[in-house]
Amino acid sequence: MSDYVASLMEDVKAKNPAEPEFHQAVQEVAESLVLVLDRHPEYRSAKILERIIEPERVILFRVPWADDQGQVHINRGFRIEMNSAIGPYKGGLRFHPSVNLGILKFLAFEQVFKNALTTLPMGGGKGGSDFDPKGKSDDEVMRFCQSFMSELCRHIGANTDIPAGDIGVGGREIGFMFGQYKRLRNEFTGVLTGKGLNWGGSLIRPEATGYGAVYFAAEMLGTRNETLEGKTCLVSGSGNVAQYTSEKLLDLGAKPVTLSDSSGYIYDEAGIDRDKLAFVMDLKNVRRGRIKEYADKFPGVVYTATDRSADHNPLWNHKAHCAFPSATQNEINGQDAQNLLKNGVYVVSEGANMPTTADGVRLFLEAEILYGPGKAANAGGVAVSGLEMAQNSMRYGWTREEVDNRLRMIMQNIHTACVEASERFGTAGNYVNGANIAGFLKVADSMMDQGIV
Ligand code: NAP
Repeated sequence: MSDYVASLMEDVKAKNPAEPEFHQAVQEVAESLVLVLDRHPEYRSAKILERIIEPERVILFRVPWADDQGQVHINRGFRIEMNSAIGPYKGGLRFHPSVNLGILKFLAFEQVFKNALTTLPMGGGKGGSDFDPKGKSDDEVMRFCQSFMSELCRHIGANTDIPAGDIGVGGREIGFMFGQYKRLRNEFTGVLTGKGLNWGGSLIRPEATGYGAVYFAAEMLGTRNETLEGKTCLVSGSGNVAQYTSEKLLDLGAKPVTLSDSSGYIYDEAGIDRDKLAFVMDLKNVRRGRIKEYADKFPGVVYTATDRSADHNPLWNHKAHCAFPSATQNEINGQDAQNLLKNGVYVVSEGANMPTTADGVRLFLEAEILYGPGKAANAGGVAVSGLEMAQNSMRYGWTREEVDNRLRMIMQNIHTACVEASERFGTAGNYVNGANIAGFLKVADSMMDQGIV
């Protein structure tokens, strides 16, 4: 670690104690940026990185709601408005019991670079709550969303801050929050993305993150004149990103063999085909059941329950060519990375945000596999959110093909930007450096133009 990064990290840890995920995200970016700051001392003297790691604004609020039995619950709501140098704050809302300030700050920080990579004018933000939608009735989720939006609506707006979905926030939650925003503010605007098609949503938005992660993998394979045809793929998660990753893998002739949720994972050696995927979508999006039911329904499938005391996740210990982590942060540790490499995996495209620990990232880079970090590989979701905003502003909607073509083009551009930046700074093939540097330069130059704000 350079002296500069060591001293920066000392400050970050002192100022932001007990936020390990935020420290991890900052350190990875800072290590990539040493290459840039050495060549461009003007960024260092203007303290651009020191400014980027400090949120422009953090909003923290009480979210009280009553369950179906009339019991009162109090959750905590957050919105991190991280950086608005290149556009209004943009980033998802996460509802999960693990949500805390540090996790949302790491996500908001990553979002700044990711959004810059999309080529669209979007700043970075993130928010959410420690509310757990699992096991709650639709009415309870609605009351929670209404209470959450009653406070959040003061801080967001179509030209200020435009939240979207993330873990635990899908079409149902966006609907309840949009309804409450419209009621309180008396305006119909594109203040949230991921909306329903009848009320301002974009075609391909639900599919975008998963499709984008697969397009990014295809671009990386293209550098070795290979395609996804015939490749065996490990996918984690079984929510929005995992489902549409699997769908696009099938479109491109690959074979997904795993899916998971927090209780366990399934391994289907025969492959998750379209009929089985339709079962998963109904199970997860309509019936809101557990992935174990997949193994009960289809013969020859192995279900393994999560063992929280294990030092590795067995999902990453199967023979395969590609891995698409699509559940949550730090789901691939050093041991998992070793297992993936040992089993022949040479493409990792991160649908989830920061799913690989620092140890794991180091192993992937040393092995020189095609490793696409989340900032680049999962930027398709926010990119199509940007396209949803554009359609809302025009009061017009594009066709499925138009949006999908734009998404594919954006993923190609992000891939090219990563490749070029990594080459320009002497680390060809390192997509981590490529993504961090390309994202940083756009934001840094905009901040230089706008003065000390
Ligand atoms: P989702 O629809 O809520 O699905 C999340 C999936 O991951 C579920 O299967 C969930 O299982 C599992 N999961 C969540 N937390 C977990 C944990 N702590 N341990 C084990 N499994 C866990 O969410 P999503 O939208 O697919 O998001 C997945 C990842 O992609 C996240 O990292 C998110 O930040 C990232 N991402 C999403 C988007 C987007 O557009 N949605 C865009 C960019 C990046 P349970 O149901 O058991 O909790």
